Amino acid sequence: DLNEHKPKAIDLSHHLSNVSKARKTSPLKGLQRYLGREGMVQMAGGLPSPAYFPFSELSAEGLIPDSFPLSSTTSSSSAFSWLFKLFQGLKTQEKTTHLTIPKYPVNPNDLNLAVSLQYGLAKGLPQLQKILDEFVLKVYKPAYADSVTLIHAGNTDGWYKCVQTFCNPGDGVLVSEWTYPSAIASMAPYNVKPVAVPMDGQGMSSAGLRKVLSEWDEGATSMTRPGLMYIVPVGQNPTGATMCVKRKQEIYDICVEFDVLIAEDDPYYFLQEGPYVRKTERSASVQFNSDEEYLSHLAPSFLSIDYQGRVIRLDSFSKTISPGCRLGWFTCNPIFAERLERQGETSTQAPCGYGQSLVTVLLLNWGYDGYVRWLRALGSQYQLRRNFILDCLGDEFHLKLDYETSGVWSGCDTYRAYDKAPGDATFNEKHAVFKPMFSLVPPTSGMFIWLQLHLDNHPSFNCDEETLEMQLWVDLAEAGVLFAPGWMFSAKESNTDAPGKGHFRMSFSNAEFEDMRKAIATFGAVIRKFFEKH
Ligand code: PMP
Repeated sequence: DLNEHKPKAIDLSHHLSNVSKARKTSPLKGLQRYLGREGMVQMAGGLPSPAYFPFSELSAEGLIPDSFPLSSTTSSSSAFSWLFKLFQGLKTQEKTTHLTIPKYPVNPNDLNLAVSLQYGLAKGLPQLQKILDEFVLKVYKPAYADSVTLIHAGNTDGWYKCVQTFCNPGDGVLVSEWTYPSAIASMAPYNVKPVAVPMDGQGMSSAGLRKVLSEWDEGATSMTRPGLMYIVPVGQNPTGATMCVKRKQEIYDICVEFDVLIAEDDPYYFLQEGPYVRKTERSASVQFNSDEEYLSHLAPSFLSIDYQGRVIRLDSFSKTISPGCRLGWFTCNPIFAERLERQGETSTQAPCGYGQSLVTVLLLNWGYDGYVRWLRALGSQYQLRRNFILDCLGDEFHLKLDYETSGVWSGCDTYRAYDKAPGDATFNEKHAVFKPMFSLVPPTSGMFIWLQLHLDNHPSFNCDEETLEMQLWVDLAEAGVLFAPGWMFSAKESNTDAPGKGHFRMSFSNAEFEDMRKAIATFGAVIRKFFEKH
């Protein structure tokens, strides 16, 4: 038993919001214990007869778990031409496995449409629950014994439900100073405010968190000390930062000390790409000998250090299966799970039965090992993409390695981007001194590269850096390349940038490889021209 010798979750029900406490158990719930009884004629609920469901069977061609290779690291640039071929080839000749879900299976306990397309429990399909329970115990290893999984309709829904369940109007939520804007958008209309915590190269700073909490002044802020944190610890959106277990432990301990719950929004967990190695120094290798070894190299979840049950982990199938299935799950203590389930009963109910059925049949077919194999290869795919775009940036600009001592990247090796050919005098002459245009830290997870623009090196810089950020953004958009402007991700009311700094977030998750290369060339031309403007 993987939960043997672990403590049980402590009672943290004082964190429940007034709205959550006011939710009553659905009156129909009392009927449920009779539902399974043999011979019971169900005439209580308004359930349509499955005979009227216009699907007698759902079938699908699912990709096989080892559709993508495990190794992405090859030394030569021909690796990418190999990759283009692979990518094109996969689109036309994907290897699939045939999946079917009948309405009425021979064994009524098998996955079937009569049940999965019916009104169901907000908990979701029992077959899916079983898969998730096993997955969480083996992969995330919660440090307490009675963690519970509960499905939701993706992390957007999961976070929204957290806000409703743990926040009263006027409350504050601890967030990183740069954060995922939709998370704040879920809170804002309920007058739940972000409380920005400083970041460094690993994401949220533990020293910064302690300072915010220990110096909290209710009078000055007109807000009680926040009791909830929202954090994206892996492939942080937008900075791409990934937090190691030591930092997680520090943050967790502070949260215990100040009685703060942690909502761990972790959609990029399996997109851990490892350190970036320059093209010329890269060597071909399969990184791990086994799936176990692979899993043990992933940054551990907050769950693995959560001995009290104060972490509400949000997992999503959006980045590992597809965003359109609108499916994910909570892992949390049983008291919170019960309240979140009650909330589900009055909102989403169970996520869509078609999506749940298809994801479940695929995972049943793949099995635990197959799913881990899939995730492992997915990590390699994103590693390839991350490497590719950084290689393109390295081809386009002169990237000089530097060490950051302050700000969001402090403690990180940073690449500063100069105009190509630093020996070439033209750029230098124009600006008297040779200065970088932007800096970046190669992300080790996720989908994003966060560029810090050195707008103070722009000839017409006059402390109006926000305008300059948008000017460059418009120039770039006009030239056909869309990045996300940095201001969108600021958790502070005013821009969090140091004077003269601006940001762009570029994603490498979706564009075709050749398009990415073209986009970086366009970016190069536009930003050079921009920095030459007087
Ligand atoms: N959280 C973060 C940090 C994200 O970046 C995203 C997707 N961009 C989401 C949540 C949304 O996830 P889902 O599709 O599961 O709602």
